[in-house]
Amino acid sequence: MLLISDPYILSSRLLEFKKKGRKISFIPTMGNLHKGHLKLIREGKKENFITLLSIFVNPLQFNDINDYKNYPRTLEQDKKLAFKEGIDILFNPNDHFILKKKKSFKLGDISKKLCGSFRKGHFEGVSAVVIEFLNLINPDLILLGEKDFQQTIVIKKIIKNLDFKVKVKMIPTVRDKNDVALSSRNKLLGADSSLAVLIPKTLNQMIREIKNGNFKFSRIDELKSNLIDNGIQKVDYLEILKEKDLNFPDSQFDFCRVFISAKINGIRLIDNMRLNKKVKISNEKFFVERN
Ligand code: AMP
Repeated sequence: MLLISDPYILSSRLLEFKKKGRKISFIPTMGNLHKGHLKLIREGKKENFITLLSIFVNPLQFNDINDYKNYPRTLEQDKKLAFKEGIDILFNPNDHFILKKKKSFKLGDISKKLCGSFRKGHFEGVSAVVIEFLNLINPDLILLGEKDFQQTIVIKKIIKNLDFKVKVKMIPTVRDKNDVALSSRNKLLGADSSLAVLIPKTLNQMIREIKNGNFKFSRIDELKSNLIDNGIQKVDYLEILKEKDLNFPDSQFDFCRVFISAKINGIRLIDNMRLNKKVKISNEKFFVERN
């Protein structure tokens, strides 16, 4: 495994591989690798491409300095895991990588919803680093997690609008035995970690109730209150949105997802799940397509 932190060195090594006709699959992460990341890595390895794993805690995408400072950094442990998984290149740049040459990109509406409305500048920060990575690496395949669904659509938009020739593969969320989505932030929950189970429980419950055909908009507020009553510190959002554009469902049937962001003990967790039937709204009530 090549360990590289200098973008110029990375560029020249990639050129050597590309000259030999090798293709590159790219797995961007912020490190503190868990089984969710490993699933992306294993998918990336399937094609016999050179696998490039990046570990970079991008300062531009944090709107809260404490969140940035406390983000778990476990590089030595990550290196061992990456080596064990057979990663070809581990790219771990320092902050200069991004701070000097911020590229801006008009993200439009999609970046203002959900996490975008609660984390000012977050998706602009994500887009700056993604553009930098894609320009530098020019990968053939990029592996992204469904766990960060909104981020995945933002990145797809960047790829389309800036005409990067890279295929995107979205990988389903890896969960623990209690259905909690794995996340590097889970270990910061401390004694309150058992509360995290309320997040997937609420999403599953919403999906069940929508499918049973008796779900009204007002039910969302009840579910939010239940979360608070059960010890969740704050619910930033709990929403059902169309997966193609993150708009509210309307009178036409469309595939939708339920999205949540909630704070436990100061730690912000996100999750989402897909409704596998199309949904529409009429008179404030949700209807599932029957076929
Ligand atoms: P992060 O290191 O949290 O920025 O995540 C790096 C990549 O791993 C992103 O594409 C995430 O969506 C993905 N990812 C994070 N957690 C999971 C998970 N539990 N299951 C699948 N993919 C994940």
